[in-house]
Amino acid sequence: MTDRRTFLRNLSLLTLGGLASQKLTASNALSTPAIDATSAATGIEAKKKMGLQTYSLGQELLRDLPNGLSRLAKMGYTDLEIFGYQEKTGQFGDYNPKNTTFVSAKDYKKMADDAGLRISSSHLTPSVREYTKENMSQFEDFWKKATDIHAELGVSYMVQPSLPRIENEDDAKRVCEIFNRAGEIAKAAGILWGYHNHNNEFKRVLKPGEKPDPNPWAPPKGTYIEELFIKNTDPDKVMFELDVYWTVMGQQDPLEWMGNYPDRIKLLHIKDRWILGDSGMMNFPNIFKKAYEIGILGYYVELEGDPKGRTQFEGVEKSAAYLQNADFVR
Ligand code: MG
Repeated sequence: MTDRRTFLRNLSLLTLGGLASQKLTASNALSTPAIDATSAATGIEAKKKMGLQTYSLGQELLRDLPNGLSRLAKMGYTDLEIFGYQEKTGQFGDYNPKNTTFVSAKDYKKMADDAGLRISSSHLTPSVREYTKENMSQFEDFWKKATDIHAELGVSYMVQPSLPRIENEDDAKRVCEIFNRAGEIAKAAGILWGYHNHNNEFKRVLKPGEKPDPNPWAPPKGTYIEELFIKNTDPDKVMFELDVYWTVMGQQDPLEWMGNYPDRIKLLHIKDRWILGDSGMMNFPNIFKKAYEIGILGYYVELEGDPKGRTQFEGVEKSAAYLQNADFVR
């Protein structure tokens, strides 16, 4: 097994090689990795651990995976959170109907290793949509098979990024029973299971039969779905990956959620309207400060498609440069 030290050394050699061959311009300059006294003595480079959710690139990456992965390593990314797990075949690809690239866990891991990247996380969702006790065995089958395949991939985390249908508190509690079971299955293989939010998790739901207050000035009734998830899942089995952009889009303050649930939020999605830091609506210095304070395990950069039609690689590279140059990112 490659130990962390060897892994880091290989990674640093690779990245320095990448930087040397890269044309540095004012707009895309990556800061030269800092090598402090300790790391110079031990040969370990003090490199920023920086993850990317590969959904950000979609087909641009999948069309030529080996080349795309090495481009990401050169930008300074160290970790990947992949997507596109195919329930039927156990391979990884894209949900885009035009996609023709499907890879096995073994091949994906090999390609990432060759590029000096670690696949540390994966997003996946069961195709079963009805979260009922009667369907429990179908969820178990899904998560058992997925866990075996993800263990081969060597991930630390498996994360569900989509919200089941929830209309009241009881629906949320039933979903949480299934989340707990998924977490238990993953945990047996040494994988942390988590849930990733969009903005709809910050809708309030009522108890079954409860009616909203007709007075528009009354304080809102009900509980946020995200809060119901946090309170009804077992902290030993389920963690949360907070997407800070979607939290803001849900009219919430990511700092407040991290502050309220420091032991439950373990990962972040670092996301902006497109390139990180460009919109001005995300306070990344404060987000990172809070994240370190609560002992976050890691984060993954994520970009949606660009409305102006620039390539996704451009956005992903500029976002990497933003974080590499940011003194608030360790
Ligand atoms: Mg996200």
